[in-house]
Amino acid sequence: MPATVTAEALDSIVKPQIERLVPYSPGKPIHEVTAELGLTDVIKLASNENPFGPAPAVLEAIRHALSEIGFYPDAGGVALREKLAAQHGVAVDQVVLGNGSDELLQLAGLAVLDEGDELIIADPTFARYEPQATLHRAVAVKVPLRRDTHDLAAMAGAVTRRTKAIFVANPANPASTYVPDGEVEAFLDAVPENVLVVLDEAYFEFVDHRDHGGSLALAARRPNVLILRTFSKIHALAALRIGYGLGSPEVIGWLHRVREPFNTSSLAQVAALAALDDVEHVARTVACNAAGRARYLAVCRELGAPAVESQANFVLINVGTREIELYERLLRAGIIVRPCSKLGFPGRLRVTVGTPAQVDRFLETFEEYWRT
Ligand SMILES: *Cc1c(COP(=O)(O)O)cnc(C)c1O
Repeated sequence: MPATVTAEALDSIVKPQIERLVPYSPGKPIHEVTAELGLTDVIKLASNENPFGPAPAVLEAIRHALSEIGFYPDAGGVALREKLAAQHGVAVDQVVLGNGSDELLQLAGLAVLDEGDELIIADPTFARYEPQATLHRAVAVKVPLRRDTHDLAAMAGAVTRRTKAIFVANPANPASTYVPDGEVEAFLDAVPENVLVVLDEAYFEFVDHRDHGGSLALAARRPNVLILRTFSKIHALAALRIGYGLGSPEVIGWLHRVREPFNTSSLAQVAALAALDDVEHVARTVACNAAGRARYLAVCRELGAPAVESQANFVLINVGTREIELYERLLRAGIIVRPCSKLGFPGRLRVTVGTPAQVDRFLETFEEYWRT
């Protein structure tokens, strides 16, 4: 046994596709900016988190459940799944919980993708989609956005004999746009039933157009459709890692088979249960988001900085060649946003809708820099 293992010896162990995976690069955390720039009052508008935090009743439920953390959580997540099932008008075996919806994307990939299969995704799209193909030696087939929006007709047209799955974020991230129900329906009609369609609806609640919100009814007649939702954004539970999938008993059954038995914690489960009850907090978040989003878009229009008509809790601003310069200047002013070169959108900044005060602070700083 040699004292040191050579890099070559280790390379022979790891699957070749693992070497091609790139660790996710998240938005810069507040403590890093505080430490690096010696700032005290730093705000983060980089990861589409809920700026209001969870409802007080949710924090109380978590506190109450703390004494139980010596026990394993309910592996079936039954109480939460029953509540979600009742709320969505589906059976309990049509609901699966995940360690964030991110885990559910991974489970979907694990269940259906194999070497040489094809996964159709938009370009650019959520950074967590392509790695699911890479992980299983499948091929990510990328269909460009059209006017910053999913081109569902082109995505359906890209289906081949090898296609196993299509991942669609609606609303999209980082694009911020949505596709209306009519287009989703035409798309689902055009996709063969032996292709899994994942509708990732992490920003579902933030859409205010009336021609949206009917995906569950569309999925009811199509067993190949999996809908993903999350408690991370609207319910402000990002740190607890909890999301859920809704679909046919068949597809949901696959995910239950491949998931870890205890993939969601007891604290996440009780917090999610309490969050579902706090309808007022949700309504307030939605209203504040709509107002902040409208202010972002109005000021950008005024300044001649083109921004995409967002239906999410963030906006995408076209700043051209000043992307990195603006990002750094905002950072020095204690405002963390997301430069989008790494997200496949060079020349854009992605800015989360904050509290009214945070929206003001971003707009003042942005305007000052934009005009100079
Ligand atoms: C934020 C986000 C998610 C949700 O992630 P969680 O793992 O539930 O925190 C999923 N999809 C998209 C497109 C997102 O932007």
